[in-house]
Amino acid sequence: MKQHVDSREIYKTARNLLKERGVELKDIAEIVYEMQSPYESGLKLEKCLGSVEAVLEKREMQHALLVGIELDKLAEKGLLSEPLQSIVADDESLFGVDETIAIGAVFGYGSIAVTTYGHLDKAKIGIIKQLDSKAGSAVHTFLDDLVASIAANASSRLAHHIRDEAEEEEHKRMLVADVHDEGRS
Ligand code: MG
Repeated sequence: MKQHVDSREIYKTARNLLKERGVELKDIAEIVYEMQSPYESGLKLEKCLGSVEAVLEKREMQHALLVGIELDKLAEKGLLSEPLQSIVADDESLFGVDETIAIGAVFGYGSIAVTTYGHLDKAKIGIIKQLDSKAGSAVHTFLDDLVASIAANASSRLAHHIRDEAEEEEHKRMLVADVHDEGRS
């Protein structure tokens, strides 16, 4: 039987790759905060960070990171074959495979993730902007889109969780009120 690559190893590698390429999870959490704080007063950055961490637990996200960052790194070292080498190294504007991989990892989190990804792809805020503005010989053709994908997923996840928590609180309140009423009757 074929041996599977251990999931924990893939998870650890994906996280380490982000760090190695200069992306801290806090940087992504800050984007999530900017996306979700208008809808949730009192939102804390830690909650956004928790959502980013949860998104990175998803295999689909990890695989996208592994593929995209590998291509960035190979292009940076000039190791891809031509014409792909030039296309990736120059972040050719009509090359859309970077977005395609990133958006593929977004569908699992529903429509809020898809629309947030679209917005981040255009607006390029925070660390995404830093990655997109080509500094020196660094290649981040795939990484900027992958970060947008993580942030979009974490934003959507957070929006749904906040609603779930609010409803749970409401249900608890209703239960307490019911018990109270029964006690009186
Ligand atoms: Mg790109």
